[in-house]
Parts: sequence; C-alpha cells; structure tokens
Amino acid sequence: MTSITPTSQSHFSSHYINGQWVPATSGETLPVYDSSTEQLMATVPAGTADEAGEAVAAAQAAFDSWSSLTVETRASYLEKIAAGVKARMDDLAMAIAREVGMPLKMARAIQVGGPAWHWGNFAKVAREFEWEKTVAGPMGRSLVVREPIGVVGCITPWNFPLSQITLKIAPAMVAGCTVVLKPSEIAPVNALILAEIIHEAGLPPGVFNLVNGLGPVVGEVLATHPDIDMISFTGSTRAGKRVGELASQSVKRVALELGGKSASVILESANLEAAVKGTVAACMLNSGQTCSAHTRMLVPASRYQEVKTLARAAVERFIVGPSLADTSKLGPLVSANQRDRVLGFIATGIQEGAEVIAGGTESLPHDKGYFVEPTILGITSSNTLAQEEIFGPVLVVIPFADEEEAIAIANSTIYGLGGAVWADTDEAAIKVARRIRTGQIDINGGPFNASAPFGGYKQSGNGRENGVYGLEEFLEFKSLQLKTAPV
Ligand code: NAD
Repeated sequence: MTSITPTSQSHFSSHYINGQWVPATSGETLPVYDSSTEQLMATVPAGTADEAGEAVAAAQAAFDSWSSLTVETRASYLEKIAAGVKARMDDLAMAIAREVGMPLKMARAIQVGGPAWHWGNFAKVAREFEWEKTVAGPMGRSLVVREPIGVVGCITPWNFPLSQITLKIAPAMVAGCTVVLKPSEIAPVNALILAEIIHEAGLPPGVFNLVNGLGPVVGEVLATHPDIDMISFTGSTRAGKRVGELASQSVKRVALELGGKSASVILESANLEAAVKGTVAACMLNSGQTCSAHTRMLVPASRYQEVKTLARAAVERFIVGPSLADTSKLGPLVSANQRDRVLGFIATGIQEGAEVIAGGTESLPHDKGYFVEPTILGITSSNTLAQEEIFGPVLVVIPFADEEEAIAIANSTIYGLGGAVWADTDEAAIKVARRIRTGQIDINGGPFNASAPFGGYKQSGNGRENGVYGLEEFLEFKSLQLKTAPV
C-alpha cells in the first residue's frame, strides 16, 4: 500500500489491469515533481499502446456481467469506495498537495472531501434514478429503458485530479459501464492510491482499469480503439479537439470538459466590495488553475479606480507559500512549464499595455517551487489576455460603458464555461446571466453546487458532469416497442 509523506518518493512500476497490478513492459518512466520543492516525488511507467489495448480487452470482457448486476449491487460497491477514499484521506491529500501544489488543508477539504462525497452521492443518485418508463405515442406504446453505453475511456487532467477522475468513473461504473482510465501524467499519484482503494473494495476484475502514460500514446489508443464506446475527456481545448477527431472515426460518444475564460460581471448596482473580493477569490483558487476560474472581472468604467484599490486589498490576503506550510493560502503552479507559460502571458499582457494593479513578473517570492505572484492587470478588450486561457493566478480587469457592452464582452471569447453576475438584486443579476452563453453562472456569490450540471457551451466542451446529469452521460436509450401494455 502506498503511503505518501511530506518527503517520500514512490516508484510505481505497474498498471492496474483486469483486477491486478500488472508490471509495465517498457522500462520507460515519467517523473512526478513536488511542485513546492521541485524534488522528484514519484515515477510512473510510461504505458504502451499494447498495455492500453490489454486494458480495453479486460474492460470489454467484464462488461456483460457487470452491466447485468443490479443497480443496488453496483451502488454498494461505490459506497465501499467512498469509505475507502475517506479512510485514505491523509494520503490522498498529501499526494495532491505535493503533485498539484494546493495547500494541504484546502486540498483535503476540496480535492479529497469533494470526491468522497461524490462516490456516495452517485450511489444514491443511481438508486433513485428512473431506469425505465412507458411512453405512449399516436400508434404504439414503448418501454423506454436506460442502459450503460459500454466500455468508457476516461482521460483526465492534473488540476483537480481526483475530482475529475471520480466525476467520470463513479457514474460510469454505477451505470453499468466498465472503464479504462488514463490519468494525467503530471499528477498521477492520487489516481494510483484510488486504484488501491478500488482493489480493496473487491470490484470484479476488468470493471476498472488504469494505464499510466502520455496523452499522444495511451490517450490516443483509447480515443481510436474500436472496442471503446465512449470517451470522457477533461483537459485543454487543444487536446479535446484531437480526441474528438480521432473518436469520430469509430462514431464514439465523446464528452468534453475543456478550457474557460469566465467573466465576473459586476453591474453598477452591485456591492462593489463583496463583488471584487468574491471575484478575486474565484480567480485565485488553486493558483488560478481551475477551468471555471473567474479570470476576467468586468467593471463599470466609472468605478475602475475604486475597483483597483479593492482588488489590491483582496489579493493581499492570498499568502503565497509551499503547499505543506500552514500559512499558505496559495501554492505554487503545478510545473515549471506551467509557471513559464503563465509568466510569458503576464509579460505579453504588459507589453500590450496592461496596467499592473498587483503582482507582475518581477518578484518571485521563493527560490524553489513553481511560484507565481498573484497578479491583477487592467486591460482593454484588444489585449491578448482578454481572450487566452492563462491557467494561473492572473485576473484581468476590463472596464465597460454599460450593461449591453458588459454582456457583449462576457460573450466575446471562444469559451463558455462559467462566470458570475453581481447586482443589487438576484433578479437583476439573473436577467443578465440569462444572456451570457456559459454552462454555469454564480449569482451574487452563490456557491458551487455539486449536484447541479457542470460543463461548457461553445469551445468549453459538450457534456455535463455532477449528480444525475453526470450519470445520464453514460447511458443509452433503448425503446422496446410493445404490442401490449408492459408488465
Ligand atoms: P491537457 O489537455 O494537456 O491534458 C489532459 C489530459 O489529456 C492528460 O491526461 C493528457 O495526457 C491527455 N492528452 C494530452 N494530449 C492528448 C492526446 N493527443 N490524445 C489523448 N489524450 C491527450 O490538459 P491539462 O494541462 O492536463 O489540464 C489543463 C486544461 O484542462 C485547461 O485547459 C483546463 O481549462 C482544462 N480543464 C477543464 C475542466 C472542465 O471541466 N471544463 C476541468 C479541469 C481542467
């Protein structure tokens, strides 16, 4: 059993296929770094196309018997996994704090507490779900049944790694699907602990399989494989497009949860202090490495000067430090690449005329670790940073003249994932929110609801996760056309 401590180094050498840990065939490994210290914390095997194929074969062989079990039996397995996640909370939180960089206490509550709840909740949702119903038409009657789509390939990113895995494999498995998971190569340790938990829960062999490795190798095998019925992908829009193209050759169902550039629209009537504070917090969570982060703050031009003062005060609360330090409110970025990319974006924004309200590229507070100072930049809509997903602790402030212009700016990117509207009343905020083309919008600081559908419009994707909406993604409809009333 893998135990993760503040300094441990783990060398994983197997994939999890057909209910067993199967030694990797190639000697090639992928390094995993502690993002606060830059020390090697683990290595995982670089899976091969053959290993991915074996996992798909195991999942396919397990499908008939797993999908024939009762929903109650499958739901009970999920509850065992929920208990296992709770029992291994310390290891999971430590793994994520080190590989992703989120401060430990926060990682425990959000990155592990969330998934623990979802495992139990999907069991409940499945038990309460209407699996079949009778539908009458002008000519006949049908029994419409919901069935699992089949073998599902799950490809996940590193930013909320355990949540993203859980939101795919838990509903897929309780629906009766079998799965092959390829976790992010950048934060794979939590996934390996989850595989240990699933093994302990005693799932039948082949229902859950995990192959480590790179997207263009293992991920692309899953996307193209004729025996995979559905790909559920979370990650960048770039990789999502590639997965969609490959999957189209075998007409798979494809669910994509992709990037974002969400706007927090602060209307003239809003409580400015609460709105600015709320927006800064919704941008900085996980050092801005959140797909639905509110990374554009749209403010009335007449209030711009006040906003700058409030934003500076709000961002000062985010003390930057290593993920294992108690005082840290904001950890490092996940990797050197990510840090360099984000610093490059800040430099571009400044070159194009952005006003530095807080942070910038100058003063990095730590010698080791992939740290970036939380940064707030005042820009106009023509700046590159008004469009590009930065995926770091960078908030841009864009002034608008009136409500119509605010809505036009909010809708002016290729993305449509999240956002917020702030006004004096919920009614006024909802009126504007209805005109913003995104999958979820926080009204006057309304908190995230883990049972409501989560997903994107436009190039932010095309599926929904969470609760019953997430379960339905993995189901087919079958219409049994009846001559007589159903029994
Ligand atoms: P990424 O696209 O680089 O990688 C995501 C996963 O896809 C990884 O497992 C990776 O190995 C795999 N992959 C990469 N290339 C592939 C290919 N050609 N074929 C198959 N698989 C491939 O993304 P990332 O850097 O891990 O995550 C950050 C991105 O994810 C951001 O753009 C963020 O907005 C997005 N994201 C979206 C959501 C959402 O729910 N909408 C949630 C979290 C992250």
